[in-house]
Amino acid sequence: MAALTRLSKPSSSSAFSSMAAYVSRSFASAMASEPTAPSPFSPPPPPFALKPNLPRRDPNDRDVQWVFLGCPGVGKGTYASRLCNLLGVPHIATGDLVREELASSGPLSRQLSEIVNQGKLVSDEIIISLLSKRLEAGEANGESGFILDGFPRTIKQAEILVEVIDIDMVLNLKLREDVLLEKCLGRRICGQCGKNFNVASINVKGEDGRPGMSMAPLLPPPDCMSKLITRSDDTEEVVKERFRVYYEKSQPVEEFYRSRGKLLEFDLPGGIPESWPKLLQVLNLDDHEDKRYAAA
Ligand SMILES: [Zn+2]
Repeated sequence: MAALTRLSKPSSSSAFSSMAAYVSRSFASAMASEPTAPSPFSPPPPPFALKPNLPRRDPNDRDVQWVFLGCPGVGKGTYASRLCNLLGVPHIATGDLVREELASSGPLSRQLSEIVNQGKLVSDEIIISLLSKRLEAGEANGESGFILDGFPRTIKQAEILVEVIDIDMVLNLKLREDVLLEKCLGRRICGQCGKNFNVASINVKGEDGRPGMSMAPLLPPPDCMSKLITRSDDTEEVVKERFRVYYEKSQPVEEFYRSRGKLLEFDLPGGIPESWPKLLQVLNLDDHEDKRYAAA
């Protein structure tokens, strides 16, 4: 892929215009530098409609421009979505953007379905253009910020993102790996209604200065109990490999934000009842519905 060029951020124009410009340049340079490489952008489609004259607010007016990082299984999506409800900002998961585009008749849907059907990874360029489109729509609708979940996943994505929008804070959710593994291995899905459960009952003792931890299982109602299925890729070997791949890619991303003073590390002290109030405390947030959440 094309080398990334750092763009100076224009102070008066919109971050999103600059994101759009970046994506266009990135597409153009990818085409120019690798004319013979097989590319999903051949022939190049317009990645999304640019609306350079859209009236925009200063992106710095937004209250919350956060990124959530965390290993698969850590509960990142759950905490992100709770915080989004609390703060009144959208929870933007790039996986959902891909699914929505696939289900739509949008400009990228055909291209995306080819990539997905061939079992290929969706490229950074496509993810960025979907994200850009989503943020632009949000800005036009007066959204006061966002929490990004699942993006940036790689250092390359982080480098693209920093040039186009200010991220105020990156929350890195962490859970000790033995607990994370147990949690991942405890996942079950009901073969009938498709709901997700977790049969892992976690109770680890504190050792080497680490506190103990207990997490209650999320058991299904009696009707689902006999129909529980374990996903075939939730074996110890596969889950550990998933962790390894995640850490390999995420460590440079963490370092990227750490060196910019944006990374907030949060060690989950347990399940939601223990973690949610602590998380709010760390973020200096007050949840008047704290008790309701904790009881959920
Ligand atoms: Zn069921």
